[in-house]
Amino acid sequence: MTKKITLSETGAMLLAAKKIVLVCHVSPDSDTLGSALGLMRKLEQFGKEIVILVDDDIGTEFNFLPGITRCIRPQSNKSIYADILAIIDASTFDRIGLAGEVVKAKITLNIDHHISNAQFVDYRYLDIEAAATGEIMCDLFETMNWKYDLEMATCFYAAISTDCGFFRYSNTTHKTMLRAAELLSAGVRPNEISDIIEMKSRSTIELLAKVLATLSFEYSGRVAYITIANDLYDKNIQTDSFVSYPRYINGVEVAIMFKAVEPEVTRVSLRSSNIDVSKIAIKFGGGGHLRAAGCTINAPVEEAKQQMFTALKEIL
Ligand code: 5GP
Ligand code: MN
Repeated sequence: MTKKITLSETGAMLLAAKKIVLVCHVSPDSDTLGSALGLMRKLEQFGKEIVILVDDDIGTEFNFLPGITRCIRPQSNKSIYADILAIIDASTFDRIGLAGEVVKAKITLNIDHHISNAQFVDYRYLDIEAAATGEIMCDLFETMNWKYDLEMATCFYAAISTDCGFFRYSNTTHKTMLRAAELLSAGVRPNEISDIIEMKSRSTIELLAKVLATLSFEYSGRVAYITIANDLYDKNIQTDSFVSYPRYINGVEVAIMFKAVEPEVTRVSLRSSNIDVSKIAIKFGGGGHLRAAGCTINAPVEEAKQQMFTALKEIL
């Protein structure tokens, strides 16, 4: 049974522990990494022993996040004992990969903002109104009267700004903006962070050119999709931004990127202007938010597409 706790209970629980393992989700983004790294820095000021686990490669685009070199990959033969396993920005147990197996903790805690959250821990703080887990971190800092230094503020600003598309998406609220303003007061320069995050490698843009050529439509133009076939897929090339191209086309309600990460495994990213795509992702064992969700379909890319279009038929 998962017990819902308040922010002050969350803070008190962290302060009562000696050793805490913070875990980010696989396919790590600025929100999961920034939230964990900023929290780590504060908890270390209180003398806590902190380990950060990420069961995935971490792109070099995150090198600007203070403390990023502290992220380590869990190893199957190496158990880690801790008072608390705190899972940051992940909505299901499978999103933390091997970390879920190797960490032996007295308490499991989940801090998250996904509507699809599956209640898989002992204690949970969930706020689906928060634009980012980084925004929840700011709420936690305020509740606990913890102050930010520039490094923490940088981590949380990166977390918040990316998850709300630099304050453009529907999850951006009055409070999101206020939290960002506080982080600016702590010295964050938004242009410096957005320049780093928006920067793309040449290989990303070269791949984008090929992927845009696959743009196709279904359901009279209400669905637009792009495809990264397995022979084009390269795990070292960033493709997160690609799905925004089909997303911003007149008349498109659902945008999809199909990525053949293996010949029989397809990663699917869903974006929408008006449809709850988290529901579709959940059908395939994935999850996410109302307007941005994802899942993995264990099928070749063309078969995955047919499965996805069939599922969409019921909703459109
Ligand atoms: P993206 O399309 O950028 O990979 O993911 C969009 C959103 O959906 C993110 O908030 C991400 O956390 C969530 N998401 C993506 N893939 C999965 C998945 O396989 N499982 C779950 N639970 N959430 C996912
Ligand atoms: Mn997030």
